[in-house]
Amino acid sequence: MIASLPVARLQDQFGDAVALHAPLAKFTSARIGGAADVLLTAGSAKQLAAMVTVLWETETSFLVMGGGSNMLVSDAGVRGVVILNKARKVKIDREAATVWAESGSNFGAVARQCGRSDLTGLEWAAGIPGTVGGAVVGNAGAHGGDVAGNLILAEVLHHQYGRQEWTPAQLEFEYRSSRLKYHPGQAVVLAASFKAAHGDAETIKQKMDEFLAFRKRTQPPGASMGSMFKNPPGDFAGRLIDVAGLKGLRVGQAQISELHGNFFLNHGDATAAEVFALISQARQTVKEKFEVQLELEIELAGEWKA
Ligand SMILES: Cc1cc2nc3c(=O)[nH]c(=O)nc-3n(C[C@H](O)[C@H](O)[C@H](O)COP(=O)(O)OP(=O)(O)OC[C@H]3O[C@@H](n4cnc5c(N)ncnc54)[C@H](O)[C@@H]3O)c2cc1C
Repeated sequence: MIASLPVARLQDQFGDAVALHAPLAKFTSARIGGAADVLLTAGSAKQLAAMVTVLWETETSFLVMGGGSNMLVSDAGVRGVVILNKARKVKIDREAATVWAESGSNFGAVARQCGRSDLTGLEWAAGIPGTVGGAVVGNAGAHGGDVAGNLILAEVLHHQYGRQEWTPAQLEFEYRSSRLKYHPGQAVVLAASFKAAHGDAETIKQKMDEFLAFRKRTQPPGASMGSMFKNPPGDFAGRLIDVAGLKGLRVGQAQISELHGNFFLNHGDATAAEVFALISQARQTVKEKFEVQLELEIELAGEWKA
């Protein structure tokens, strides 16, 4: 496979930012997954755009990875190219009460930085792992807030239309989803700007601390992908998994959390196959008991056998 990739051109243009046969597990929050044939590490939005442009020009398929906190990478890894997004510049405009961040910035850190600058409105995001880009793609949300509610615009590079600024309406946000989610590889988020409002750093910190304490009480610590399934209309995936008696179920080193049924944990060397066995079991049992088809919130990345 690697022979069919434009490795020489990538190395020529991006030098040390190119790695071959690169293990991906350490770049994911679940610490699971095989290697990418080629891993490109983008250090800025400009470099991210340049990398994506070469890949489109050479008709090479690729996967953008932010914090890897909403994906399960297969044990076989990813054939082709993965771009690890470390574009992390952030600019806060205190007067206008807005923040602009490159898409590889940690979203929670951006929210906390706003708080320290007396900007309120992003408290809900303080505990969300992953990047601004991943948050825009999946319309991340918590505690009653979501990206759709705060986003001013996303700077997007589109394979056909080039560089554009997309409004929330153009992103077609839905629950944990956007237009970008359904068209992987066709457009990438380079940066995004968010609106906030003037507030008081101490009050903002208190609110963030409350949200973080709530997470600590209700979500298990350790390596995971966060919520495995979307909540079905009018219900909670975690509640259904709990009532189905599946909390604590273990396959190898993977386990459905005893604290929260929608969190699947890696206790050490769990494989993607072990996590997938738990996913299948949870889906099947919930379907049999409650006639509810659980839909994955996380994304299966890489090579999966049909
Ligand atoms: C402990 C824990 C708690 C969590 N809590 C929450 C929560 O409260 N609310 C919530 O919504 N989520 C939560 N999550 C899930 C996850 O953190 C979010 O979905 C997050 O926004 C994903 O960002 P990421 O950078 O890790 O995305 P990744 O997992 O790296 O990528 C997700 C998808 O986005 C695409 N993508 C990433 N960056 C770009 C880009 N720049 N351009 C184009 N496509 C891109 C990827 O290709 C992939 O398709 C939690 C996860 C964990 C582990």
